[in-house]
Amino acid sequence: MSRAEEAQHSWRFVTNHTQVLLCIAENPAIRLREIAVQVGITERAAQRIVADLVEAGYVIRERSGRRNQYTINRGREMRHPAQFGYEIGPLLDLLRRSNYSQLDLRRERAARNESAFRELNERTNLDEHGPFTVFVCECEDEACVEPVSLTTKEYEGIRANSNSFFVIPGHETAMVDQVIERAESYFVVRKRGAGAEVAEELDPRTR
Ligand SMILES: [Zn+2]
Repeated sequence: MSRAEEAQHSWRFVTNHTQVLLCIAENPAIRLREIAVQVGITERAAQRIVADLVEAGYVIRERSGRRNQYTINRGREMRHPAQFGYEIGPLLDLLRRSNYSQLDLRRERAARNESAFRELNERTNLDEHGPFTVFVCECEDEACVEPVSLTTKEYEGIRANSNSFFVIPGHETAMVDQVIERAESYFVVRKRGAGAEVAEELDPRTR
């Protein structure tokens, strides 16, 4: 490909900064790794762009458990003088793929992950002799296999409800989990919104 051809093929209508904003709009708890894959840039570049957006006030970044949680400042104006007075919110709405609530999608996905760990715990043999049985944390992080010790009574109490999971304190995600009980070594959470339906649907005890 000649340089002229290359230049013709490489330009885009939407800058990487806007692509990153769109990723965040779709999933406010997205990881840098996922942004990098979706935009087609390195994780380092994604990190730099997010830092730019935060610094310029387009994105607010907060820590939620072990993840970053982003909020887009929709009322902030675009940067080029030609777009003076235009806010970014409507631009993002225009470019988003669907109007189906991304929050619901995310809650569904989290409920699926947590249900997979519940399934795993349901196959664990209860230790009838010791005081505890060691289970795995049922948080939404697929990579988390941290142990949680529960008595049979505690475990059965949690399993009695189709929408009830236990996680290590700090592994809950405010957007998808409602904490309903705080024990010393675990929290009991309930899935919010669309996640609740998934949790109930996937309950191995009622299927
Ligand atoms: Zn966990």
